[in-house]
Amino acid sequence: MAKTAKHSGKTTKYVYFFGGGKADGNGSQKPLLGGKGANLHEMTRIGLPVPPGFTITTELCTYYYQNKRTYPKILLDQVDTALARLEQVTGKRFGDRADPLLVSVRSGARESMPGMMDTILNLGLNDETVEVLARKSGNERWAWDCYRRFVQMYGDVVMGVQKVGRDEHEPFDEFMDELKQEVGAKQDVDLKANDLRELVRRFKNLIHKRTGKEFPQDPVKQLWGAIGAVFGSWMNDRAIVYRRKYNIPHEWGTAVNVQTMVFGNLGDTSATGVAFTRDPASGEKVFYGEYLINAQGEDVVAGIRTPQPIAKLKQEMPKAHAELERVRQTLEKHFRDMQDFEFTIEDNRLYMLQTRNGKRTGLAAVRIAVEMVDEKLIGSKEAVGRVPADSLTQVLAPVFDRADRDRAVKESRLLCRGLAAGPGAASGKVVFNAEDAVDRAHKGDRVLLARVETSPEDLRGMIAAEGILTARGGVSSHAALVARQMGKVCVCGAADITIDYTSRVMLVAGRTIKEGDFISIDGTLGEVYEGELKTAPSEVVQVLINQTLDAKQSRTYQQFAKLMKWADGIRRLGIRTNADQPDQATNAIAFGATGIGLCRTEHMFFGGDRIYAMREMILAETKEARERALAKLLPYQRDDFAGIFRAMKGFPVTIRTLDPPLHEFLPHDSDTQRETAHKLGISPEKVAARVAALHEANPMLGHRGCRLGITYPEITEMQTRAIIEAAIQVQKEGIKVKPEIMIVLVGFPKELQNQLDIVHRVAKQVMQEKKTKIGYLVGTMIEIPRGALAAEQIAKDAEFFSFGTNDLTQTTLGMSRDDSGSFLPHYQELEIVKNNPFATIDQDGVGQLMQIAIERGRKSRPDIKLGICGEHGGDPASVEFCHRIGLTYVSCSPFRVPVARLAAAQAVLKDEKAAKTREIS
Ligand code: PEP
Ligand code: MG
Repeated sequence: MAKTAKHSGKTTKYVYFFGGGKADGNGSQKPLLGGKGANLHEMTRIGLPVPPGFTITTELCTYYYQNKRTYPKILLDQVDTALARLEQVTGKRFGDRADPLLVSVRSGARESMPGMMDTILNLGLNDETVEVLARKSGNERWAWDCYRRFVQMYGDVVMGVQKVGRDEHEPFDEFMDELKQEVGAKQDVDLKANDLRELVRRFKNLIHKRTGKEFPQDPVKQLWGAIGAVFGSWMNDRAIVYRRKYNIPHEWGTAVNVQTMVFGNLGDTSATGVAFTRDPASGEKVFYGEYLINAQGEDVVAGIRTPQPIAKLKQEMPKAHAELERVRQTLEKHFRDMQDFEFTIEDNRLYMLQTRNGKRTGLAAVRIAVEMVDEKLIGSKEAVGRVPADSLTQVLAPVFDRADRDRAVKESRLLCRGLAAGPGAASGKVVFNAEDAVDRAHKGDRVLLARVETSPEDLRGMIAAEGILTARGGVSSHAALVARQMGKVCVCGAADITIDYTSRVMLVAGRTIKEGDFISIDGTLGEVYEGELKTAPSEVVQVLINQTLDAKQSRTYQQFAKLMKWADGIRRLGIRTNADQPDQATNAIAFGATGIGLCRTEHMFFGGDRIYAMREMILAETKEARERALAKLLPYQRDDFAGIFRAMKGFPVTIRTLDPPLHEFLPHDSDTQRETAHKLGISPEKVAARVAALHEANPMLGHRGCRLGITYPEITEMQTRAIIEAAIQVQKEGIKVKPEIMIVLVGFPKELQNQLDIVHRVAKQVMQEKKTKIGYLVGTMIEIPRGALAAEQIAKDAEFFSFGTNDLTQTTLGMSRDDSGSFLPHYQELEIVKNNPFATIDQDGVGQLMQIAIERGRKSRPDIKLGICGEHGGDPASVEFCHRIGLTYVSCSPFRVPVARLAAAQAVLKDEKAAKTREIS
């Protein structure tokens, strides 16, 4: 429940008024008033032109759901009082025959959820007030246009008249299209007053036919219906899906904003629009946005007509444009972040309807944060806190391969252009509805979702798709906003495309593209191609990894590097990488890793001929035969380790002893068994028999990890020898080496002792042979619960712990990491688990075991080095957890290293903020 409500005696204040230059609330009250509400109050306070209104708090939403969708009695009085005040400030009255008050009713949660909840405009109109409005304005068409919109929205949102089935259009839209055809109107604006009057009649009939109820005429009744619908929409399917995706708690609830209507559809001196103080796709500091003349709010975002770019407003309405430019500057100065705002121009007068921190692509997030520091709007710490760590994956995302694109252009496969709405490059099989996108993606297809325009119902499909293409709608259409936020590639408003949902084809450039055909879209340039196109790495990757682009030539790279440097100055966690090849290690260093946290040695046994030596070792029947085979593997391993030590240039390298069950290295089909038998000079039957003997029902819980090294000590001997010999060799080349030998899957202290004896004995022996000393550490993975619980004893021997949270999750939860896909998504849907525990650490379970291990481990070795090398090491929420519990480093895959660096810095900032809050309270 929101904590900031005012309680006077026993009465909770549920309704906050704003208007006439004063506001009950302010911008800091987002938990209570929602993002939209709080900023309406704030904008009123700083003197921006905000139409007056009132906000019903999120606390009321909580009450509503806790009390079977009912309101407290006190709300009636508070809404009455606010309405009276609104009537007084505006000089208009609800249902008045001389000057009727019209309001909008909008949702507004703490975090914006674009398009997910419901909105109702023009509330207060009925069969009488519409005539008053027509008379007063002298614009009958406009009055009836307002009324038909209201009936449509109310019918849909409050009375539930909606489309049924995946291929149907919105029922109200169908009536509209039908009438347009009947009267020969091309666009909505071509409909005359009488046509709209007729449309209202048909809409009302539709509502009656579908619901058996009349459209309500009493404005107060309308208002309560709308308030109920908006609160109700907090729990609609798409809002729930959205909250799940973005981790917005269901308990937060939404506020409801009731606000005096202003009209952008009053004729050619009126308009409505959405603008960003900077470009949300690229981050460039340009006034970016779009508007529609003679239109109302939702028209711009709904993508019904493709709007004009904001620069054009300068010619069409110079005064309003200048005012908007002023507002843009005021907003950025006041809120110190890129703002996304909605405005309406009513008869040349500008009104502000909303402002919020704008959603942006990862690319834009980096650019805006860094440039705002350059402009001294914010400090570097704030910049680090502003860029969602995960969004860096977008900055590293591929673009189309240039040669492939040129070829496609030459072959006339560039089908059309649309608006560049979500950067990146994507290829996939085209589908035309969200359900098909989900179905095909489940089957493993890469899909692109193409729609005339998207609506919030398409959310699941958008999540499943690689990219989104729309024929209608601007850069702030629903498709564009949602795509950018999800980091999806998106091209919208590609007007040359005609989509036929029923026959599931799209027509473009004289071609017919069928469902399932490959298309490719470039969301950075807004291009649509036929067929599949290869992708090429991002600029950052071209500079750092491929070294095909000069750092000085890439602003993107320079800004990325600046941000990373600031993050490194803040973070306390070390960042290592999981790598088993020198090139992976080199990449990770380029991305900023300062060590290898996990080298899985088994990955080295698969290349070239070494698999046969490995198989020979496994198939050997005596210790001597096994040792002969291991001797063949030794040079391979030594070379691999030497390569990695060289690549790591003195950074520590944690090398893990052999982990997987041996059967994983053996051939299971008869052809390969025969081939192996031939190579090793034994009979195929022998190979088959050994494969059968090594078969395990639960190999993950079977003969693996240190259990192998204990039963076949010669394996650990060979691996230790390879590590120490490689280290000596590379040290002799003048390169520092810091090997850390990691014993795997330890649960019993004696397991570790057994392996330690071998490691130390062989290391000593090699050093004597080579007459060279080398420093090395020996530690263990903590990846089964017993290991965590026995940590005090284990730490007496282990010089470091590395949490193998993949196995620790598997064994703590009793869920197979390979097979839980069949039920885990369902668990997430039902919120039995909040996140996938194999992606984000299950803090209450696995996390507790980690904390126990740390506490107990430190008892016998206070300065024990602690790391994590499970997949969670690159997940921002898990990185924060690792920081909080005091790990020394996290280790993740090379391309996640920048994400981990930023997340580690943000964890420190979060700590500092919490400490400050504690100080204040
Ligand atoms: C782990 O279990 O977390 C781990 C890093 O080891 P692997 O994934 O190789 O089992
Ligand atoms: Mg493991």
